[in-house]
Amino acid sequence: MKIVIVAKTRMGSGACIGALTFDGRSLRLEAEDKETNNQFNMDYEVGEVWEVQMRSDPNIIPPHVENVIITEKRRLALMSDMAEFIKLQMPPITGGREVIHEGLTRKTKAGALYLAKRTGIPQRSTFFWIPEQGLTLDTNAKRIRYRYPDKESGFTLTYTGFQEPVEKIPAGSLLRVSLAHWWRPPEIPEGELRCYVQLSGWIESDGEDDDREQPRANPRVLPSLESATKPKKSIRNLEGAQVDPSSIQKILKEKFGYEEFRPLQEEIIQNVLKRRDSLAIMPTGSGKSLCYQLPATFFDGLTVVVSPLISLMEDQVLELQEWGIPALYLNSTLTHAEYMHSVQRIRAGEIKLLYGAPETLLRPETILMLENSHVESIVIDEAHCISEWGHDFRPEYRQLNTLRHRLPQATTLALTATATHRVRADIKKSLQITDANEFIGSFDRQNLSLSVVDKVAGVAQVRDFLNQHKKQAGIIYCSTRDNVDNLTDQLQHEGFPVLPYHAGMDSQTRRTHQRRFRYEDNLIIVATIAFGMGINKSNVRFIVHYDLPKNVENYYQQIGRAGRDGLPADCLLLFSYSDVRTIRYFISQNAPELRQGAETRLDALLAFVDALNCRRIPLLDYFGETYQGGNCKSCDNCLDEEESDRTRAELDTVKENLTAPALLFVKTALETQQIFGSAHLIDILRGSRAKKILKFGHDKISTYGKGKEFTKEYWQHISIQFIRLGLLKRTKPHGSLVITDAGKEVLNGKKVFGKVAGTFAKVMKQEQGKYDSTLFEKLRVLRAKLASVKNVPPYVIFHDRTLVDMASYFPHTEADLRQIYGVGGRKVTEYAPHFLPLIKAYCRENDLKALSKQKTRKKRLSSKTGRQRSEYVWKQFQSGKSIDQIAADMGFRPGTIFRHLQKSLSDGREINAEYLKKSSRLSAKDGQRVIDAFAEHGDGFLSPIFNALNEEISYEEIRLWKMIMEVERGKSPS
Ligand code: ADP
Ligand code: ZN
Repeated sequence: MKIVIVAKTRMGSGACIGALTFDGRSLRLEAEDKETNNQFNMDYEVGEVWEVQMRSDPNIIPPHVENVIITEKRRLALMSDMAEFIKLQMPPITGGREVIHEGLTRKTKAGALYLAKRTGIPQRSTFFWIPEQGLTLDTNAKRIRYRYPDKESGFTLTYTGFQEPVEKIPAGSLLRVSLAHWWRPPEIPEGELRCYVQLSGWIESDGEDDDREQPRANPRVLPSLESATKPKKSIRNLEGAQVDPSSIQKILKEKFGYEEFRPLQEEIIQNVLKRRDSLAIMPTGSGKSLCYQLPATFFDGLTVVVSPLISLMEDQVLELQEWGIPALYLNSTLTHAEYMHSVQRIRAGEIKLLYGAPETLLRPETILMLENSHVESIVIDEAHCISEWGHDFRPEYRQLNTLRHRLPQATTLALTATATHRVRADIKKSLQITDANEFIGSFDRQNLSLSVVDKVAGVAQVRDFLNQHKKQAGIIYCSTRDNVDNLTDQLQHEGFPVLPYHAGMDSQTRRTHQRRFRYEDNLIIVATIAFGMGINKSNVRFIVHYDLPKNVENYYQQIGRAGRDGLPADCLLLFSYSDVRTIRYFISQNAPELRQGAETRLDALLAFVDALNCRRIPLLDYFGETYQGGNCKSCDNCLDEEESDRTRAELDTVKENLTAPALLFVKTALETQQIFGSAHLIDILRGSRAKKILKFGHDKISTYGKGKEFTKEYWQHISIQFIRLGLLKRTKPHGSLVITDAGKEVLNGKKVFGKVAGTFAKVMKQEQGKYDSTLFEKLRVLRAKLASVKNVPPYVIFHDRTLVDMASYFPHTEADLRQIYGVGGRKVTEYAPHFLPLIKAYCRENDLKALSKQKTRKKRLSSKTGRQRSEYVWKQFQSGKSIDQIAADMGFRPGTIFRHLQKSLSDGREINAEYLKKSSRLSAKDGQRVIDAFAEHGDGFLSPIFNALNEEISYEEIRLWKMIMEVERGKSPS
C-alpha cells in the first residue's frame, strides 16, 4: 500500500512515524525490529511516499488504533504538496483546547494536557490542528513544550518532533497533534494511567522564498482549508418540484413489487422529493424504510442513511441488493480492502444508498468523501437516539448536525418508531424541522393480536402456546437471566427449537444465536430485554412475555418485533401479580423523585393488563392516540365479547360460577374498610394466623377462614378475575382494593361468572390463511436452500408474505410472478427459474391453475386450494361415492381423484379399503393376483408388477390395489 509520511517524532533512540494512506487512513508505523534496533524507523522522512506491507498490532490499546507493524517497505518519491494532501485526506480541525482530542483532555498543575481512561477515549490518537492563536516555546520544563494561551491560563503540549524548534508558531499554522503511550507517573504508583498530548511537528509550506526555520500559514493552503470546514452556501431553501404521483407508483410496483402505499408513505416520499426536511414517527413494521429507499432511486446522487446498528444495516443492504438497488454500508466490520473498495464505488457514483454508523460517518475523512460525492439526502434512522430523554440516547447522534452543515444541499429525513412528546420536540429542535413537516402515523398494528392470560402454570402455558405455533419463529421474553436459562432448558428438553440470549452469555455465543435467529426459519429465542435491538427479521410470528414487561413502552417495543411483514402475529403476555409486587419493590428502592414517574408507568401497564375492553384502547392511549376502531377482532377481550354476544347464555354455563367466592371476597374487603390488598384478604379467607391478621383482629370478622377449601393460588387467580370483572378496583399507591358499584351488586345477590385456570390455554389462533400450506412449506424449503447458498437470511430473498401470495395464486409465468407481493426489480429474473418450476410441478400434481391476482382478487376466496380440494374429494369418497363418480361430478379425470386420495392418505386421513375395492374394475380374483405380484416383487416399482401380470392389468388398477394393500396393512396390528 502507498503511504505518505506526515510526522516523525523522537521515541527513545528511534522514531515514531505518522503516515496517511491514499484513502484517508491515519497510521502510526511500528518497526518489527524495535526491540533490537536502536535506530528503528530513522530512515523515514516527512513528505516521503513509501510502498509498505503491514500487519495489525496485536497489543493495540485504544485510542492507539492507528498502530500497524510494517513488515516490508520501499521508498518511492517525495510528495510535492503535503498540506494539500492532508487537507484532502484528513481535514484539520480549527479551534482551541476544546477541539483537541474531542475535548476530552485534562490538565496537570503545570498545564500539560493529558487523557485519562476515566475521562473518555477519543476516536483516534492523531489529528491535524489549526490553532486559533499562536504558540510559544517554553523551555522551563525538562522537555521542550509549546504553550498555548487561553482564558484558563493556557496549556502546554510536549514537543517531540525532529524539526528544529522555533520561538513562535503563528496562529493558523498546520500542526500535527498526537498522543504518547499510556503511562503512569512513577511518583503516584496507584494513580490512573495517563496519555500525554504531544505536538509532533508542523507542516512546512514549500516555495522558493520559504524560510525553512519559520513555519507559517501557507497562503495557498489555508484559504481552501477554511472552505473545507465552513458550511457551503445553503441551497436548502430551493424546493424540489412535486413529482407526478403515477411515476412514484410505478417505481413502487416495478422496483419494490408492492401494489399500493401504506399510510403516510406517499406523503413523506413527496415531501422528501420536494426537498423538505421531514420527521416521520411511525410504528415498527409500518414501512418507514421505503420512505427514503424509493426517493433514493429517484435521485441522481447519494442517499446517506445513519443507522445505529450493524445487523440492521446488513439486512437492509442485502435486501436492497436483492431488489437491484446498489447499496453499501461502511462500518467497523469491513476489512481495510473492503472499505477502500466501497469508498471507490461511492466516489465513482455507483451507489444509491450508503448506510453507516454515526461514528463512521462523522469521521473527517468520511465527511470529506461525502462532500465530494453529491449527497442528495441524509436519513437519520432511529432518530430518538438524538434525545437524552429517549430510552436509547447516543451522544454521537448529537453531532449529526455537523454532517448536515457540511452537506447543506442534502435533504434530511428523520425516522423513529418511539417518540414521546418530549423526544419529538427534541428531535425537531435539534434538526430544525417544523411542525408542518412532521408525520405521525397511527401506532395501531392491526396484524398483532394481543392477549393477556394469568400465569398459573408458566411452562405448561408456554408449551401449549408453542404447540399452536409450530414451525414459526418467535421470541419469549423473560425478566431475568435465570428465567431465560431455566425456561430454555425445559423447552429444549421437550424438543422445541429454542436458544437462549442474555447479557450474561459470552458475546460470541450471543452473536451466534442472533445470527441463527436471522438466518434460520423456525427458531425460538428465549431472552431478556437484551435481545431485540436491530432484529429486522420480518417473519417473527409471535412474542411471548413470560414475565411482566417493565412498562408499556417496553412492551410495545418488544411486540413490535413481530409481524413486520404485515402477516398476523400473536402476542401473549403471562401475567402474575407477584411480578407487580417485584416491580413495586424496585420502585420503592428508587430515589423519591423517580418514584412518581415509575408508579405512573406501572399504572399504565396495569391498565393494559386489567383492561376489560379492547386492549388497544389503553395501549394506544399511552402513546397519546385514541383508539376508535370498535371491536378489533384481534385481542382477547374483543374476541371474548364477540363470542359472548353470540352465545352469552351458553357461555355463562361454560364459564365457572364464581358467585360464592366473589361474595366472600367482596365482603372481606368491606369488613376490613377497603384498605387492604388482595394478599391480606386472601390470608383472612384462608384463616391465616399471620401477625398482621391478629394485630388488626381480622380473625374475628365473619369471613375469616371461610375460604379454606380453595388454595392460595386459586384465590390469587380468581381475585384477579374479580378485579378484571370490575368488582374491585386497585388504588394507588398500596394496591388497596376498593369495592366498585358492580361489586356492591354482588353483595346484593348478583351472580358472577369467570374464566378459571384450565381455560387459560386459549390463545388466539392465527387466521388460517386461504393459501395452500403444503405448497407454502415447499416454497419455504426452496427459499432456505437459496438463502444458505447466498449466505443471506431467508427473508432477504422473499418475505413470508410473498410465499403466501405464491401459494394463493400459483404464478406460472414471469408476468404472473410480477403480480405477487414483494416481487419486483431484479427478483423476477433471478428467482423465476427457481420458484416457477416448483409451483408448476405442484400445480400439475394437484390439478391447480394459476390465478390472476388482478382479476380474481375476490373470486379467489371461493376457488379451492390443493389441500381443500383433497379434503373435499376425501369426504366425497368416504361417503361412499366411487372414484369414477366423483370424477364425473367434479369434471376431473379419475387419476386426479386418485391422487387426491393418495394425498389424503399421506396426510393421515383414514380411507375405507372396501370403498377402494368397490372403485376397482377387477374381479376379486384379479385383485388378489395383483397383491400376490407385489408380495413376490416388492412394492417399490410398478413396472415389474405390470410385467409379471403379463401386461393384462392397467397401471391405474395396480396403483389402486397398492393403496388397498397400504390401507389394510396400516390397519393390521403389525
Ligand atoms: P419499519 O422500518 O417501519 O419498521 P420496514 O421499513 O422494515 O418497517 O417495513 C416493514 C415491511 O413492510 C418490510 O418488509 C417492507 O418491505 C414492507 N413494506 C413497506 N412498504 C410496503 C408497501 N407499501 N406495501 C407492502 N409492503 C411494504
Ligand atoms: Zn380489541
